[in-house]
Amino acid sequence: LEREAFEVRFEQAVTEDGHRVEVAANLGNTAHAEDAVERGAEGVGLLRTEFIFMAHPEAPDLDTQIAEYRRAFDALGDRPLVARTLDVGGDKPLDYWPVPPEDNPFLGLRGIRLALTRPEVLETQIRALLMAAESRPLRIMFPMVKDVEEFHAAKAIFDRVQAEVAAPDVQLGVMIEVPSCALLAPSLAEHVDFFSIGTNDLTQYTLAIDRGHSRLSAQADGLHPAVLALIRMTVAAAHARGRWVGVCGELGSDPQAIPVLTGLGVDELSVSSRQVPLVKQRIRRLSLDRSRALAERVLTLSTAAEVRALLEEELT
Ligand code: PEP
Ligand code: MG
Repeated sequence: LEREAFEVRFEQAVTEDGHRVEVAANLGNTAHAEDAVERGAEGVGLLRTEFIFMAHPEAPDLDTQIAEYRRAFDALGDRPLVARTLDVGGDKPLDYWPVPPEDNPFLGLRGIRLALTRPEVLETQIRALLMAAESRPLRIMFPMVKDVEEFHAAKAIFDRVQAEVAAPDVQLGVMIEVPSCALLAPSLAEHVDFFSIGTNDLTQYTLAIDRGHSRLSAQADGLHPAVLALIRMTVAAAHARGRWVGVCGELGSDPQAIPVLTGLGVDELSVSSRQVPLVKQRIRRLSLDRSRALAERVLTLSTAAEVRALLEEELT
């Protein structure tokens, strides 16, 4: 399958019954954008910009960031780039941005909460993204948003910058990583252009299991029916408003999850570059109708083990 997949990697991923799912790449380094395109990625679905910040001894200035982002855009041609604004705190400390010690860093100052304590950093980053994009398709999303209030605080900064920097093809979205956002997706969808589901964190916060826990992390399974129910709510709310939904967590490249996510109506999967050809090929072998029926059945189950057992039976 892998060899066959590689040969047709530049073709779209369309199911047997004609339903297209976009397959994009997750990147932590803009120098890898060319490689992503070479592997058939239809865009970048998650640029983890914090890795660009971590690679510098101090916060990269406007020009340094423009050069970084431009590198990705130049490699992508007219393919879209989804950039996540700085997502530090929790498991990702930044030396030059110390956070006071916290008992529960994953429940503390991280993601957009932390970024909003230094709005000038967020503003410079957004300015650099808009300037690097020029007229190319840029999607900006905010990490770890818990509700519309946080989204609006971040959007206010975006609006300020956008009034000064012309970039005609920009969309604004939020990552769905905190269960509150999935639960309130119908109202959130009024305000955003898209959602991108970060299943790594969404699973952690839904099941209350530290995603890196040495003994428990194996139980942090994104195919848990509780997580899938939140994904279903998110997609339904987005589509009711004409918004698109991606999945950029690791679940997107899990062979058992691909039919379920397709059946739930996810529009885009963003996976590591290496996985792009295979994920596309797996989608081509599905039917949307059968995947929908499968997703329905899976959602009636009670545990991740039951879901995996059913999928094992149905997909082999
Ligand atoms: C996620 O949480 O699923 C995600 C894509 O973000 P990260 O893994 O970088 O926290
Ligand atoms: Mg995350």
